[in-house]
Amino acid sequence: MSEVRTLKVALLGCGNVGAQVARILLDDADALAARSGARLELSGIAVRNLDSKRDVELPRELFTTDADTLVKDADLVIELMGGIEPARSLILTAMQNGACVVTGNKALLAQDGPTLYEEADKAGVQLSYEAAVAGAIPILRPIRDSLSGDRITRVLGIVNGTTNFILDQMDSTGAQFADALAEAQRLGYAEADPTADVEGHDAAAKAAILASLSFHTRFALEDVYCEGITKVSAADIAAAKEAGFVIKLLAIAEKIESSEPGNDGGISVRVHPTLLPREHPLAAVRGAFNAVFIEAENAGELMFYGQGAGGTPTASAVLGDLVSAARRVVLGGPGRTETTTGHVPALSISASNTSYYVGLDVADQAGVLARITHIFAEHGVSIEIMRQTIHRDAASNVESAELKIVTHRASEAALAATVEAIKGLDVINSVTSVLRVEGV
Ligand code: NAP
Repeated sequence: MSEVRTLKVALLGCGNVGAQVARILLDDADALAARSGARLELSGIAVRNLDSKRDVELPRELFTTDADTLVKDADLVIELMGGIEPARSLILTAMQNGACVVTGNKALLAQDGPTLYEEADKAGVQLSYEAAVAGAIPILRPIRDSLSGDRITRVLGIVNGTTNFILDQMDSTGAQFADALAEAQRLGYAEADPTADVEGHDAAAKAAILASLSFHTRFALEDVYCEGITKVSAADIAAAKEAGFVIKLLAIAEKIESSEPGNDGGISVRVHPTLLPREHPLAAVRGAFNAVFIEAENAGELMFYGQGAGGTPTASAVLGDLVSAARRVVLGGPGRTETTTGHVPALSISASNTSYYVGLDVADQAGVLARITHIFAEHGVSIEIMRQTIHRDAASNVESAELKIVTHRASEAALAATVEAIKGLDVINSVTSVLRVEGV
């Protein structure tokens, strides 16, 4: 019987995720060896502070602060430090030394992915990052491998657990954004500085990765239109609920066809609060869970659901990548990388095409509805649903009407022009909300 090879695994970082990865590597060594075809020997763990308390008890002699030396002597490197530097330099050094790398660092991939992918190609090693999008959910490999014989047309993802928790809390309790955020922070779902989550930056980094793999073209963070959830009010949520919708922060990547001759259209990559019909599969994704909904030409609709964060769930994705990379080292041959043969342009938000929900507070006068519907028609935006509720102000005894309008698909530019024109009407008290709608 041939001798089983041993591969040295360097772990960079031993925080929430790294500690669980180390535990599984040590506890499940036999099973991992059977699946990889090689023994995966944890050769060391690089940290900042040797004396920090760890979530898992691990042999003290494994720890080092010398990440550079550890990386140079490894066959496989797992980067779970986070941040840009020194993670970026260590990953580059590892690949230049012939090691395959597994990382969960979406911030780094969003900022400097192309440099890393190119270095992996050049060095002929595998760079894997399943944990960078939607934590435990196997989504990148299914897109890259399982769907490589199909044509993906649209991806809709709930890829940030913090914002999903906050919006779900607002939907189920009627809370305002600030109160739901405070609750998320109290329960540990949101960080003390929640900016990256609530402003949509974290979801945008993941949208760029999802779009790149789905449409075989490298999209950068600058290609992603990004709008967070800080402006979503309890009134927006209540109005959406009454109309049969739920509001979710979605990362969307979709192919937009062009009607102009000689123009092949492009890809709209965006993150924004979105109304979804309450019966849409993504509407059932509650709390801090994540899900990615894919539409493909031949497979049809697919949905992937699970825990989008947390040390142990995320470690599962990291170990999956590690076994796959180890198998590749054992079998030989270049690393499996994503294809970039799509060459489709990223479109600006004004070219995106979706349905809209528009809330209007208008004077209750004869002819108002006709004037409003005329403006929609004039801009080529057709109305699917229009509901009117009359309010009487008790103090002034003046009546006003609340209009809730859902449009058919229209371009962002046409909708923006419609809203601007409506604002100019003397019968409009205010435009209470303009939200994009998917799944109708
Ligand atoms: P974390 O708890 O903050 O742990 C970071 C670890 O890296 C710590 O052990 C820290 O050492 C070490 N470290 C940081 N800077 C270092 C440096 N300059 N030199 C050496 N060691 C350094 O982070 P995490 O939550 O495990 O996340 C790790 C990565 O996974 C991030 O890229 C994150 O975006 C990604 N990710 C996390 C989750 C999640 O649920 N947490 C989900 C998906 C993806 P000390 O312990 O000594 O300070």
